Amino acid sequence: MLQPPPAEPGMREEEVDTPALLLDLDAFEHNLDLMARLLEPTGAKLRAHAKTHKSPVIALRQMARGAVGQCTQKVAEAEALAWGGVPDILVSNEVVGARKLARLAALARIAKVALCVDDPAQIAAAEAAAADAGIRLSVLVEIDIGTGRCGVAPGPEAVALAERIAASRHLVFGGLQAYHGSAQHMRTPAQRRAAIAAAADGARRTVEQLRQRGLECPIVGGGGTGTFALEAGSGVYTEIQAGSYCFMDADYARNEEAPPFRQSLFVLATVMSAARPGVAVVDAGHKAVPIDSGMPLVWGRDPDVRYTRASDEHGGLVVAPEARNPPKLGEKLRLVPGHCDPTVDRYDWYVGVRGGRVECLWPVAARGGMA
Ligand code: PLP
Ligand code: MN
Repeated sequence: MLQPPPAEPGMREEEVDTPALLLDLDAFEHNLDLMARLLEPTGAKLRAHAKTHKSPVIALRQMARGAVGQCTQKVAEAEALAWGGVPDILVSNEVVGARKLARLAALARIAKVALCVDDPAQIAAAEAAAADAGIRLSVLVEIDIGTGRCGVAPGPEAVALAERIAASRHLVFGGLQAYHGSAQHMRTPAQRRAAIAAAADGARRTVEQLRQRGLECPIVGGGGTGTFALEAGSGVYTEIQAGSYCFMDADYARNEEAPPFRQSLFVLATVMSAARPGVAVVDAGHKAVPIDSGMPLVWGRDPDVRYTRASDEHGGLVVAPEARNPPKLGEKLRLVPGHCDPTVDRYDWYVGVRGGRVECLWPVAARGGMA
């Protein structure tokens, strides 16, 4: 159940109850504008990934700046977006199980809906769900272009699946899903360039083989925050699926030639103990800020104040002896999460701030474990 929000519009940031998910609206809007500006000359369109933000409010702001739609990873995210008025949604993932497929097919009455497959059995299941609902679903073939997650090999296997989709009465062949996840955090630009060059080759070859069989690819989708400029410049990808770019996180900032976006997402925490010299404790442990991609950073205080230890509800800070401004009991600190996506999933509300004041409260509509 949705908790009451930790703030009210007009409050000062220091008055927001903690831990809270804070969104710096100036930085966030800068990021949305910058992505639109960077993609514009490439011809590739943004289909931003909503697994990051889980919010129709944010989705519609991305679309107001030219995004053609949204990606989701789960049916529950697609529902939250469609119910919130998002008109074009690609589940960039395999959807397995009759109940999930029926939920997705039901959404096709209020939004354009597409999903991915990598197996003939999934095509049959999607066809059955679409037929039951009396709608047509757009289906993309996922190809594995280097990540080793889902997807068939580029080339003939993918072509065979596409032909099977095209021959299904209630399905439309939607194109190729070709996301290279493990390239996003490759640390050097040379590694990322090599990975996406190989990915684009696989996608290009598959597009050509499909064309020889008379099948056009309306969408060739992929690209995340770490590599989107490479996919967009490849001439093969038509849609970019970056998600984290709107918030950024400490792990993306560790890439050499890091993505050119500003940190807009924070966990606001309160110093709950400063009883001993050299250390302090905040009320945001790993239940409040995930540590799967490293510890959070203390915004504006690093390296004098470093978050070094997380337990369930406590975050342990180490304070350098020479620190000029050691954390005080009751002080509020902004933490930069190591990984933005799971951070958002821990909160019911975005607390949007501008100029030190709370401006808006947006629900994290698709929060939670439901698939
Ligand atoms: N596309 C797909 C299929 C993904 O799985 C992801 C993230 O895992 C993304 C796009 C977006 O990646 P990022 O948030 O790193 O931009
Ligand atoms: Mn992520």
